[in-house]
This record gives sequence, structure tokens and C-alpha cells, in this order.
Amino acid sequence: MTALRRSRAFFAGHPLFSIIAGLAILGGLGGVMVGANFAAGGDLNGRTIVLDSGHGGDEPGTAANGVVERDSNLDLAQRVSTILEARGARVVLTRYSAVRPRDVPPEANGAMATFIDLQSRVSIANSARADVFVSIHSNSNTDSSVRGADVWYTSLRPFAAESQRLAALCIEGVNTALQARGYPIRPREAMDDAQLVDAAGRGTPMFVIGPEREVPRGELLDCGVDPAVVGMHPDAPVWRTSATQMPGALLELLYVSNPDDAALLRDEPTRYAIARGIARFLGAPAS
Ligand SMILES: [Zn+2]
Repeated sequence: MTALRRSRAFFAGHPLFSIIAGLAILGGLGGVMVGANFAAGGDLNGRTIVLDSGHGGDEPGTAANGVVERDSNLDLAQRVSTILEARGARVVLTRYSAVRPRDVPPEANGAMATFIDLQSRVSIANSARADVFVSIHSNSNTDSSVRGADVWYTSLRPFAAESQRLAALCIEGVNTALQARGYPIRPREAMDDAQLVDAAGRGTPMFVIGPEREVPRGELLDCGVDPAVVGMHPDAPVWRTSATQMPGALLELLYVSNPDDAALLRDEPTRYAIARGIARFLGAPAS
């Protein structure tokens, strides 16, 4: 399900990043502390929030039933941004148009181009010294009956508990907003991407919310990338990526592969409701 989409959408099917493992859904949120960096109903003055619109440029993400993720994600991020800024937050988007957030070297193939793209999103969040990072996507599935909203966090960062809480608040806000419009919600917990592994058993957490990683020089070269493009020293054996340094969550807002979900994503009032749902956990007005 999600793994299939993620494999294509995030890493373009390169074997290094292929994701084949099943996913585990975690239990409840008992005992998780409410993070100091965000709180429902809180004042947002002095808060910096980075909203990441998934995909961009010639990598449109998933597309079906009249919805293209690249464009839908950006529109939703802009709507959330408007709500949060009205509450006093400083909001930074990882991209403000359909193009990728960073120029990708033309010699990079699909997988590594996406890798460089994702690293630039992390760098934007860190440079902004964001308090919170929220990545906005929509999902797809070969089974067109699958629908609903999902959210991911990672347990592989020092602020895992805050990320889990953030993810739970995000999905609660979205589901509440959708339910108010008659959407048939089925309960889902925030999912931990530490459960994702590749064929070799290596962890494959989502790049933008996961930990830093080491990519061997040879794998960059295999992908047609000049290691200097990603700032590697000529003698360095690996590219050490950087990770986001703040609590983060990745939202999958409905399945474009489901005609009913896609119709909702094309519906103006529903898009606004989803945006309000995302913003709500950060103290934006509920209505
Ligand atoms: Zn996506």
C-alpha cells in the first residue's frame, strides 16, 4: 500500500531506497508528553513553522482522478500558511511554486535528483530554525477502494515523543474537519516510519523527517551525480546527509486513487476544511 507509493514518490524506485516491508501501526498515545513546541490553542507569536509541499517540478508525485500531488500539496500548504500567519506564526514553505525547492543538477537521474531535492527541504527547515516541520502529501494505492488520511512520524530522532504527539494532533485535526463534512472516518494511529526497511533489512525512514544517513560515494556515482554537487569533499567516502532538527510529521491527505477521495480533494470547501484541520493543532481557530 503506502510502501509502493513511497518507493516511487520519494526515491523513484532506485534499489538503494526501495521499500518492500510491511508497515506496523503503533498503539495509543498513552504516556506521551505534550511537546513544548506546539500545543492546541496556543499563541503562535514567535513560532516558526515549516510547511513542506511534497514533490515538485518534473516529479509530480502521485496523480489520478484530476488531482496532481505536486499542485494539490502546494495549494494546501499555502492555505495552512495563511491560517497560521493570521495567528502570528512565521511560516516558511519549502517551495512557493510548482518547481522543486532547489535546482537539481541535470545529470542526476530520477532517484538521486529526488534525494537532492529532499535534502534541500531539510536544509530549508534547519536554516529557518523551525519549531515544527509538517510535510504535506496525498496518497495512492493500486486498490482504488482504499481511502482516508494517514500520518507518519519517526521514532528515530531525539524528539520522537514530540513528533508522535504532533502527528497525532495533525491527524485528529484533519479527521475532525473531514468528519464534520460527512466523511466516513476510520480510526488510524500515527505510524512510525522506523518500521520501514528495504530488501536488505536496512531501515528506510522518510528522508525529510528521518535521521541523517550516509550514502557511499559509489552510489552517487552510480546515479550519475557528481559528489561535489552535494558538497562532498573530494576524498570523502560517503555523503553524510543532514536531518531535520525539530519535531516533524508527514501527512498523507486522502487517496487520489479513490474517486471519492479525489473528488473531495477537488472540492474547494473540503480543501479549506483540511487546511483548517492541519492548522488547528497549532492553535489556529477551529472554525
Ligand atoms: Zn507524496
